[in-house]
Amino acid sequence: MQNSVIDHRKLYRLPWNLSDNAISWLEPTSACNLACDGCYRENVAGSHKPLDVVKEEIETFDRLRNSDGISIAGGDPLMHPDILGIVRAVSDMGIKPIINTNGGMLTMELLRELKKAGVYGFTFHIDSRQGRPKWKNKTEIELNELRLLYAEMLAEVGNISCSFNSTVYEDTLKYVPDLVEWAAKHIDIVNVMVFILYRAAVPQLPFDWYAGGKKIDMSPLVYSVADQRRVDIKSPEVVAEIRKRFPDFTPCAYLNGTEKPDHFKWLLTGRIGTKEKIYGYVGPKFMEVMQTMHHIGTGKYLAYEKPSLTRKGRSMLLLSPLDKGVREIAGRYLSSLLMNPLRLFKGLHYQSLMIIQPVDFLQNGLQSMCDGCPDMTLWNGELVWSCRLEELKHFGCWVRTVPQHNNCQGGNSSP
Ligand code: SF4
Repeated sequence: MQNSVIDHRKLYRLPWNLSDNAISWLEPTSACNLACDGCYRENVAGSHKPLDVVKEEIETFDRLRNSDGISIAGGDPLMHPDILGIVRAVSDMGIKPIINTNGGMLTMELLRELKKAGVYGFTFHIDSRQGRPKWKNKTEIELNELRLLYAEMLAEVGNISCSFNSTVYEDTLKYVPDLVEWAAKHIDIVNVMVFILYRAAVPQLPFDWYAGGKKIDMSPLVYSVADQRRVDIKSPEVVAEIRKRFPDFTPCAYLNGTEKPDHFKWLLTGRIGTKEKIYGYVGPKFMEVMQTMHHIGTGKYLAYEKPSLTRKGRSMLLLSPLDKGVREIAGRYLSSLLMNPLRLFKGLHYQSLMIIQPVDFLQNGLQSMCDGCPDMTLWNGELVWSCRLEELKHFGCWVRTVPQHNNCQGGNSSP
């Protein structure tokens, strides 16, 4: 599956790394008003960090690495009583504040206050395993109504980047094309769609778990579950699912695994179109130019852009000489203008779709993480993977997976 769908050598390897990255991951609270199935963080009521501690963390990020944006996550950051001060503190450092929220506490009034404080974008986590009070037992398709509500709120306030993420499980994989289609219809107000593949410590994994030299029980961790579930869906499987409905769907850039150069831990696709028609997918050179130009201009790599830029799809066509994907988009767009010149008055928009494949457990006991992890958070002043922070909180060190059978010679494929 891995290389039959996409060849990593033909894609642009995103230049993000430990000290120079597009984003960093700030957690001002672990408290949340939902209990999502695939969440990595233990929900701790009242765990809000004081504003001066949060400010220190922002300064530590700034000292340790370049970050174009900071994801303000948690928990749900809108539960933090000083959320406006946090957004302002990030913005005052010249970093884009991006709020990662389930949206439950967002009102128009708060949104306007957040805009005044400098919020740059939102990533709304919405999927069918969140137990949302008024949205229980809804499918991913039915939840599009809720997604649209938030996208329209942001559009009304204006020029705030709008992203959605959803966790993908074995039984919700089939809905991914529906979300891809929905996002295309709202390309004017939805800038990014993110699909995060479900991971957990499940009983069928053939490992013993060790913290330091001690065998441990993983069950206290929020990402340990007692039932057998698939935790090995990989990005190419999602691409194959999307291509059943959108055969032309073509990723352009990726981050590999720390143990697997040909794994797509972050797999990025960019497309250009209108609400009525997607004209095509940008290629690797487009992304290379965008990342390089942004880095030359600002000293930072790029993750989020405001609608005022993403609606400049026509200007992006100027990169046609450099990028085959953009050339094809320009060709189709010009043909459509010849058929109906009135299309010239419709905006041409850029939209990103990201597939994230978190930790992979390999047969030999290694755990392959995202090489150049953008979602690094802080623990005792050090950058650590936010998706595995509970291990440090509970055991004081990373948990190691030791094969129960002598699989060390068994290679580094998935068990
Ligand atoms: S390593 Fe974990 S925290 Fe980092 S990007 Fe991958 S899934 Fe996210």
